[in-house]
Amino acid sequence: MKRLFVANWKMNKTREEALEFRQALSVRAGEFRDVELAIAPPFPFLIELADREERWSIAGQNCAAERRGAFTGEVSAAMLASCGCRYVILGHSERRKYFGESEVVLGFKVERLREADLVPIYCVGETLQERREGLTHEVLARHLEALDNDPPELPIVVAYEPVWAIGTGQNATPEQARETIGEIRNMLAGRKRLRVLYGGSVSAVNSASLLRQPGIDGFLVGGASLDPASFCSICQP
Ligand code: PEP
Repeated sequence: MKRLFVANWKMNKTREEALEFRQALSVRAGEFRDVELAIAPPFPFLIELADREERWSIAGQNCAAERRGAFTGEVSAAMLASCGCRYVILGHSERRKYFGESEVVLGFKVERLREADLVPIYCVGETLQERREGLTHEVLARHLEALDNDPPELPIVVAYEPVWAIGTGQNATPEQARETIGEIRNMLAGRKRLRVLYGGSVSAVNSASLLRQPGIDGFLVGGASLDPASFCSICQP
């Protein structure tokens, strides 16, 4: 399976800035035939960010736990699929922290994605305090409970994102990432079509040493994905 690099823009960029990014990426897209790229822009820009030549795919940053109906402000998995999404990020630590998303709700969201033939990019990761208290394994196991009812033969992407590394400039060391991703792989041993990404302050400076670690199949990139040149310098085969 090719390495996968996902740009998580979060709540950033105007439409004009999104189109500038698209233009810059299309000039360089030929360099990335040996890897897979996915852009997760805010919902309003999804359709314009989709690439007709399929040089990259588009991803939602979240989706509703319900199928349809009177849920003002929500966006369903079926809507995202109809806009051309292939992936949807679920369980990002910002969703868990600011919107109180639990494993139970995330389990429903995973089901909604599967009904729409979408692939979850499911995020897991411990806080600094949990790491210091030796709870990392327990926290990851709990986060992964949302996948308990997900058919193991389906493709899945899990992003290991230690909360203390997200947006802080303090990335996990390559050894920490390798070791923890190894644990995640053991916990998901029954899944044959699994890719595990690392996320947390990935930059052009630290990406090569992280990618040299066995078991890391790519990155989920936040801040450094907003600039096309910096995102491109991270996306290496
Ligand atoms: C993220 O939000 O998924 C992330 C990894 O952010 P950053 O790269 O900015 O740490």
